[in-house]
Amino acid sequence: MDKQTLKRDVVIIGSGPAGLTAAIYAARANLNPLLIDAPADAEKQTTPGGQLMITTEVENYPGFPQGIQGPALMEEFRKQAERFGTEFLETWITEVDLTERPFLLYTAGHTVSAQTLIIASGASAKWLGIPGEAKVPYGFGGNGVSACATCDGPLPAFRNKTLVVVGGGDTAMEEATFLTRYAKKVYVVHRRDKLRASKIMQEKAFRNEKIEFIWNTAVDEIFGTPEDGVTGVKLHNLQTNETTIFPCAGVFVAIGHKPNTELFKGQLEMDEVGYLKTSGHSTATNIPGVFACGDVQDSVYRQAVTAAGTGCMSALDAERFLDHLPVAMPDGDEITIEGEHITPDHKAIITADGHMFSNEPEVAVGEEQSQSRE
Ligand SMILES: Cc1cc2nc3c(=O)[nH]c(=O)nc-3n(C[C@H](O)[C@H](O)[C@H](O)COP(=O)(O)OP(=O)(O)OC[C@H]3O[C@@H](n4cnc5c(N)ncnc54)[C@H](O)[C@@H]3O)c2cc1C
Repeated sequence: MDKQTLKRDVVIIGSGPAGLTAAIYAARANLNPLLIDAPADAEKQTTPGGQLMITTEVENYPGFPQGIQGPALMEEFRKQAERFGTEFLETWITEVDLTERPFLLYTAGHTVSAQTLIIASGASAKWLGIPGEAKVPYGFGGNGVSACATCDGPLPAFRNKTLVVVGGGDTAMEEATFLTRYAKKVYVVHRRDKLRASKIMQEKAFRNEKIEFIWNTAVDEIFGTPEDGVTGVKLHNLQTNETTIFPCAGVFVAIGHKPNTELFKGQLEMDEVGYLKTSGHSTATNIPGVFACGDVQDSVYRQAVTAAGTGCMSALDAERFLDHLPVAMPDGDEITIEGEHITPDHKAIITADGHMFSNEPEVAVGEEQSQSRE
């Protein structure tokens, strides 16, 4: 069967907070965005709407003083993007070609040609893959099991309770330290006898009286009930092979995140973990016309509101680019759709074929004098 070809000015990958916010802004700017998102797939752990679809209460998204369920919040985002005419396509993008514009994206049934591309494909928390960890109703994910202390730590279910953090890197130390603000006690369970975390993070955790370490140990299973959530874990000492049941009210899995950037390897600049590199002053990647927003380019904040904020930036950057206005690139250059560079002092424009001309406004004779008197 022949593939259908779609040609669009703005194509967005991902329907989490970043992608849907980009869609709201691009659609309101009459850019008719096409948003492509992966279908629900239990094995690959994808759900249209992104990571918030696997959580329950979101208490820190501004505008919802009583909190809101993650899936309900994403439903509101989606309705707002639909209201302004965003077109949705639910399929996996399997390959991209960013060597020239228009960029080409391939799905099972389509070839999509895009003048600008906004990547909002997010990141996925790494999980242990043990019984009891999966999302409700298959396990206690969202009911006592979490991968985000900033998001879930302050919830009533975890306050003044004994909690377990799994991991030994910086993320685990950060999560454990953060959780001590609310928890009675935090136990860090780590497979080895020393941490991978940086020295400063280790020392901070060692000094904290609410944190204790359980070394050379793995979590084999998470127990609980639908009513009470998590009630305990099965610990497995890797040196003695002994197993014990350890009572706790919550498990925070902190073994890292994986940005969803496989598709862009070899084409876009990434850090050593795979997060896309963007400019400090815009969401531009190293390829003019390709922008990245949300968790796919943010290994630090990883919140719905920051994802939405950078989603807005990406749409405005794409709009500026399509309007032939300069956009700040990661190397400090500013570049337009025609490949013109603006010098860092903004005084000159260098065209794609190397010609340089002034970027200063032309001042009419006589105007200069009157301006300087003002
Ligand atoms: C359990 C949990 C609870 C959380 N709770 C909170 C909270 O209370 N408050 C808060 O602010 N933040 C919370 N977060 C963090 C928040 O969910 C993320 O920061 C936010 O979702 C990031 O948004 P995003 O749009 O960048 O990406 P995501 O939400 O990750 O969405 C990315 C989308 O892109 C799709 N995609 C990826 N690759 C492809 C492809 N090749 N083709 C097509 N589609 C693709 C994915 O399927 C996904 O739908 C939580 C996270 C988790 C895991």
